[in-house]
Amino acid sequence: MTDILNFIGGEHIAPVSGQFFDNIDPAIGKPYGRVPDSGEKDLELAVRAAKNAFPAWRDTPAEQRAALLARLADLIDARLEEFARAESIDTGKPIWLARNVDIPRSSANLRAFADAAKTFSGQRFEKKESQSYTLRQPIGVVATISPWNLPLLLFTWKMAPALASGNCVIAKPSEVTPMTAYMLSQLVNEAGFPQGVVNIMHGRGATIGAAITRHLGIAAISFTGGTATGIDIYSNAAKQLKKVSLELGGKNPTIIFADAEWEKTVEGALAGAFTNQGQVCLCGSRILVQAAIYDKFKEAFVAKTRSIAIGDPLDEATRHGATVSQPHMEKVLGYIALAKEEGGKILTGGKRKMMAGRCQDGYFIEPTVIENLSPGCRTNQEEIFGPVATLMPFADENEALAIANATPYGLAASVWTQDKARATRMAQRIDSGIVWLNCWNLRDLDTPFGGMKKSGIGREGKQRAMEFFTEEKTVTAPR
Ligand code: NAD
Repeated sequence: MTDILNFIGGEHIAPVSGQFFDNIDPAIGKPYGRVPDSGEKDLELAVRAAKNAFPAWRDTPAEQRAALLARLADLIDARLEEFARAESIDTGKPIWLARNVDIPRSSANLRAFADAAKTFSGQRFEKKESQSYTLRQPIGVVATISPWNLPLLLFTWKMAPALASGNCVIAKPSEVTPMTAYMLSQLVNEAGFPQGVVNIMHGRGATIGAAITRHLGIAAISFTGGTATGIDIYSNAAKQLKKVSLELGGKNPTIIFADAEWEKTVEGALAGAFTNQGQVCLCGSRILVQAAIYDKFKEAFVAKTRSIAIGDPLDEATRHGATVSQPHMEKVLGYIALAKEEGGKILTGGKRKMMAGRCQDGYFIEPTVIENLSPGCRTNQEEIFGPVATLMPFADENEALAIANATPYGLAASVWTQDKARATRMAQRIDSGIVWLNCWNLRDLDTPFGGMKKSGIGREGKQRAMEFFTEEKTVTAPR
């Protein structure tokens, strides 16, 4: 049992109230630690520490800030196995995934923004009457709020640019998966960050999260999470004109044309639907297949889905672990029931997976494929965020686009075709912040990342995140 502590002003401290709540291991359905139930008083301490640290951190040369971020990345890498195991236990994700994706990407995030710190700069403007330049200056005390699906990956993705650009940070991981952020907090002093530059607050969204959005001493919030929460944060922040970046939900289409390269496409659609038990904002949960190959694809896809290795997340062979919590499992199962009511035919899966032994009370759901649903039904419109994919046939490019674009979301899409001109046309006309051609979730951290419509406001990625966390000042003199 581990009691997690807040990290404020370089020290680990319990919440002022002394209150904690359970941290549950979703693969076994039992508590294995406790999380601070932090509130406004804890936040006050963190904001004070961050404010005091800001002037010196702002004036620290970018190279030095970069060196500290790179050192933190090295410290994580040196503990890869420890972090991967902790992430797997906290989330229910396969340790294979945590070891190969979550944790290496977390240190890669820190390194990407260590690089960005060294190269990020303003612009020059030369005119006949004037010469100007812009300065990019840190905002001050900023906050990051992140979700449970990719805990350390998204925690570092948001924290790194804030620090690289010279801000002091209050970072709040999800209360459902706080462990790796706590482990990271144990490395911050060793990496050499001055006290108060990095502050990590644990607790519930409705209490400490909401307090962060209301606090007058916090000038910007970078949020990743659900759309409803994003709307809440946006409206709270509006009252104080806080700067806000919102990375929200998705209902992403995977669009497969008859000429697509077969094996690569089936594998890509499968990874897109079920990676991390379907709990990735980028997951392709609506699979649109051209009518000419619909039956052939369905057969191959269902067979592949049935062969996914479901198991104990700590087992090396497991590729499909537990969903993150009991309430989330129930939500996903509720959507499967809804799909049936809406006329959906379950082709495979559709149930809670009962496990034997250690995981007998775990929150496992079978990878599920459903067909026979209309594009406009709730199952095809609302984000389920679990191992549930629907199959829909389409006749041609126009119909594919109409279905793809007909949801309130616009985060990511993947298009599978060997026709380059068609791929280009689709990329132009799909309403989403990201379009992958013949691949899924191929990420270049330098590129802008974010969603349209209800999937968010703003973009992350190397340059964009550095822009978000800085104020631009224009300095002009006559020629
Ligand atoms: P969530 O919105 O419930 O919680 C996210 C974070 O916000 C948590 O830290 C939570 O404590 C906090 N929070 C909750 N209520 C709050 C409030 N009123 N004020 C301030 N903070 C609050 O989301 P979740 O269930 O943890 O994550 C799943 C969601 O995240 C999905 O919708 C998924 O699509 C989305 N997501 C988006 C991206 C992206 O990049 N667009 C990436 C990953 C996940």
